[in-house]
Amino acid sequence: MKKLRLAVASVAIGMLALSGCGQGGTPDAPADGDGAKAEAPEYKVNDSADIADSKTWKAAKDAGEITIGVKKDQPGLGNVSAGSKEPEGFDIEIAKMVAAQLGFKPDQIKYTETVSANREPFLQQGNVDMIVATYTINDERKKVVDFAGPYYVAGQDLLVAADSDIAGPEDLDGKKVCSVDGSTPAQNIKDKYKKAELVTYDAYSKCVTDLQSGSVDAVTTDDAILRGYAKQYEGEFKVVGKPFTEEPYGVGLPKDDKALRDAVNDALEKGMDDGDWKKAFEYTLGSTDDVEMPEVDRY
Ligand code: GLU
Repeated sequence: MKKLRLAVASVAIGMLALSGCGQGGTPDAPADGDGAKAEAPEYKVNDSADIADSKTWKAAKDAGEITIGVKKDQPGLGNVSAGSKEPEGFDIEIAKMVAAQLGFKPDQIKYTETVSANREPFLQQGNVDMIVATYTINDERKKVVDFAGPYYVAGQDLLVAADSDIAGPEDLDGKKVCSVDGSTPAQNIKDKYKKAELVTYDAYSKCVTDLQSGSVDAVTTDDAILRGYAKQYEGEFKVVGKPFTEEPYGVGLPKDDKALRDAVNDALEKGMDDGDWKKAFEYTLGSTDDVEMPEVDRY
């Protein structure tokens, strides 16, 4: 399993640019059951987990429940599909995998919806114990929250109509591009592509609705998220497929709970080593053939 790892995530991004298909390849085993490998993974619960030095863990253990912030409108990653109550996706599997190592069964996880802009405040205010929600690790966020991981490296990309000529961020001049408040892709457009007209909402599904009606020309966020929408609206939209940033996904944690951060990093490393990470990926996003597992960074 270790040979799958790459210390330098940029190599993965470089490979993506060459292959033009992005990390994750073509989803072929989604949770909705139309893939051959769509068997729900089970993560062994570590009943002897004892992270006594973590006040977050102790409070959750005493309550018999851990509260995890997730997205609910991002197919393949964190999504509640019509007619279902339970969120599903790669982030949800990572949440279950980590929770199991911390001693919590799937029915002891309470999922709270987080949008991009409220992730730091939710952790700071104690509304959630941790966040698994396409959450990019960066220095700005590290000032107020901690991260374990990364457990995946995505890259900012564009979702456009299937017949669009937009081939990269340099084509956005004078165009309307939609993203989400409090996200790194929205900030990147503001900083680097000032001639684009940025429209923002609190959640990406609203951008996708605008793209469908033609009121925006593109949606920008991580390629992993955009691929989920492209699949949902097959034939209507396409992902440009040339990621132009690196977005290392971390598990967001309350600041200065080092014992918890160490335990979550241990859980991620264990899952990457013992095959659980791979099962989680195949169940939700598809083949791992073109995917590199990142190294956990205990910064
Ligand atoms: N990974 C980026 C971020 O954390 C974009 C995805 C999102 O908004 O959740 O800002």
